[in-house]
This record gives sequence, C-alpha cells and structure tokens, in this order.
Amino acid sequence: MLPNKNISLQPYHTFASTEKAQFFISIDRKEQIEEAVTWAKAQMLPLLILGAGSNVLFTKNFEGVVAKMEIMGIKKVEETASEVGLEVGAGENWHHFVSYCVQKGWGGIENLSLIPGTVGASPIQNIGAYGVEVQECIDWVEAYDTLNEEWIQLQNKDCAFGYRNSLFKASKNRYIISKVKFVLQKQPKLKTDYGAIREVLHTKGIRNPSLENIAQSIIQIRTLKLPDPKVLGNAGSFFKNPTVSKEVYEKLITTFPQLIAYPISDKEYKIAAGWLIEACDWKGVRKGNVGCYEKQALVIVSYGIVSGKEVFDFSEEIIHSVYTKFNIQLEREVNVF
Ligand code: FAD
Ligand code: NAP
Repeated sequence: MLPNKNISLQPYHTFASTEKAQFFISIDRKEQIEEAVTWAKAQMLPLLILGAGSNVLFTKNFEGVVAKMEIMGIKKVEETASEVGLEVGAGENWHHFVSYCVQKGWGGIENLSLIPGTVGASPIQNIGAYGVEVQECIDWVEAYDTLNEEWIQLQNKDCAFGYRNSLFKASKNRYIISKVKFVLQKQPKLKTDYGAIREVLHTKGIRNPSLENIAQSIIQIRTLKLPDPKVLGNAGSFFKNPTVSKEVYEKLITTFPQLIAYPISDKEYKIAAGWLIEACDWKGVRKGNVGCYEKQALVIVSYGIVSGKEVFDFSEEIIHSVYTKFNIQLEREVNVF
C-alpha cells in the first residue's frame, strides 16, 4: 500500500475547507480495507474513511490516513412477488442508487432522493428525510471491525439505528462499511405526510402519485430550498433537531406560540432546530466567508475559502445563542474531525 502524502482534502468534502491529510488512499476492493487498517496500525496513525465528504467538517489537518471509499456494485440477490433484495457497494453514489430503484419501480427510499453521499455512509447516521429513514429498508450491513480485526455482517436489529444515529456513528470509526443489503418493495406504501410533498403534488394536480412523482417532487423541493455544495460549501443540516420532554415543550410553546415542534412519543417532542436558530436572528447572517443559509437556518454555508475552524467557531456562536434564549443545547449532526 503506497498512500499519497500531504494531500489537500478540499476536493473531497462538501465544505471544501482548506485542511490536509497526512496520508490519502482510495479503496475500491474489500481486501484493501484490511491492508489500510494494518498499515495505519503499524504507523500508529488513525484511519478515517471518507465517502463523498458531505457530512464532515475538518477543523485541523488530519494527522493520519484518510481512505476514500470507492467499492462499487449494485447486485440483485433475491426477488419475490412483493420484494427485491439488493447488495450495494459502499462507494456507490446514494442518489444514483435511489434513482435506479425508482426507475425499476422498487419503493422505500424514494423520499431520500437527492441526499448527497455514498451508500456506505447511509447507515452511519441512518439518513432520513421527509418521514423516511434508511433503516426501514436495510437488511444487513457488512463491515470490517477494526478493533477485533474481523469481517462482520450486522443484522438491522444489531445496528442500533436511532434518529440520525447508529452503532457505527456512536462507535466512531470502529467499523468500516463495505456493503449494504437493502430490501425494497414492489407495491410500496408511499409516504406523503410532510407538508412540502403534499403541496407540490397538489400544485401538479397529482392525486395518486407514483414512485417517480414522489422522487421528482422531492428533487424539486430540495433543489429550491438547499444550497448546492458546488456553489456554496455546506454539509446539509449542521445540527440535529433536539428532543425535549412534554413538560419543556409545553413551557416553550406558551412563551413562543410560533414554535415548530412535532410529538415523537407520549412524553417527548422534536423541536425544529432551524426554527430555534432563526428565532435567534441567525438566518442570513454572514461573518467573513461563513454564514447561516438565507433559505434554511439549519444549514451553515461557506461563501469562499474558509478553514474548518472558522465554520466550527461560527457554529459555537449559534449553539451559545440558542442555549441562552431557549435553554436548549444544540448538538452537531455533522462529524467533526
Ligand atoms: P461522509 O461525509 O464522507 O462521511 C460521514 C461519516 O461517515 C464520517 O464520519 C465518515 O468517516 C463515515 N463514513 C463514510 N463512509 C463510511 C464507510 N463506508 N464506512 C465507515 N464509515 C464511513 N443527511 C440526511 O440524513 N438527510 C438529508 O436529507 C440530508 N441532506 C443533505 C443535503 C445536503 C446539501 C448536504 C451537503 C448533506 C445532506 N445530508 C443529509 C448529510 C449527508 O448527505 C449524509 O449524512 C450522507 O449519508 C453522508 O454521506 P458521505 O458519503 O458524504 O459521508
Ligand atoms: P422542513 O420541512 O422545513 O421541516 C422542519 C423540521 O420539522 C424538519 O427538520 C422535520 O424534521 C420536521 N417536520 C416537518 N414536517 C414534519 C412532519 N410532518 N412530521 C414530523 N416532523 C416534521 O424541513 P427541511 O429543512 O426543509 O427538510 C426537509 C426534510 O429533509 C427533513 O426531513 C430533513 O430532515 C431533511 N433534510 C436533512 C438534511 C440533513 O443534512 N440531515 C438536510 C436537508 C434536509 P426531520 O428533520 O426529523 O424530518
């Protein structure tokens, strides 16, 4: 294994900040994962797997090995009258995979259209959008356990999937995902609960939407509302939506009747972090080349050359003002290195 040295990470992540990696390699075969782990351990260096870099923030140069995941392949492995099973390489582009399934008429992930990134990263934070989480379609995840130095196949129930979370995210780089098995539906139940989807379908006069209609609606909504990382650096939602108890929610809604929140159980509410940030007057604020996106306050953007540290410091200020006004501690969704 001959890694490249002192490589700029700018082209490899969507914030495109200016940090470098001490060593950089690409991985397009499963065996290369073991080689990379062995090599990094021998040098006593940390190893970081990068997909498309759409959910990372580097706040300093990475003193270790960055390995870009490029294992490809979409393979149909089973089919019944109602379902289809697909094994997909970790390096496949997520949106390409979604579009492929939609085109075949296989449903379950259409609400996750246009999410940037790779298939291998999709279980890491259990990607979610418009009322769907990827865990709903995952059968198992194949990964290399860098601690025990063995290949494992984790069944869905063992992945500890939660809201923008999983065993993989919680155990910080212990598992390297090489392949994911999905099970999709031939007669899917479409999810149109989110207001934005219903509005677009209504505007288009679509009463009985197809998979394609849902996917196209979501692509339209996202294109209008979210910044294109090729134009403005960003990592999507920078913070998670916080969860609060029913009691806290009831106090908040009395003081702030405009608050946007959704019940997630009898006892807890999810608060829209974007609303909290906007209520602290951050929406559209720019400091140097970093800013809070003018169309969605949950997204931090870069307008030009920035360091990851500048982005991080900006996010600290947002966390501080939300805490001061609402007594709610925002948690970053983006993976900070
Ligand atoms: P990376 O950013 O490269 O990596 C993310 C983390 O996963 C890192 O910790 C990395 O080390 C680890 N990782 C990556 N691949 C592997 C692997 N094969 N094995 C082990 N660890 C790995 N997310 C949502 O959930 N919903 C959305 O709607 C959404 N919208 C977005 C919109 C925009 C404009 C942007 C920029 C981001 C958005 N995101 C969203 C966040 C992001 O797209 C997802 O989290 C995506 O899954 C990240 O994929 P990636 O390949 O870019 O991962
Ligand atoms: P939005 O529609 O303006 O809604 C604001 C928040 O309210 C969202 O975060 C969403 O929570 C929640 N919400 C809205 N309708 C809901 C419903 N019917 N039931 C339960 N919760 C509801 O959000 P947006 O920013 O435009 O994003 C739209 C979707 O894309 C959301 O699901 C969002 O998570 C996803 N997205 C994610 C990222 C990312 O990087 N993670 C980036 C862009 C968009 P949830 O976030 O829990 O769905």
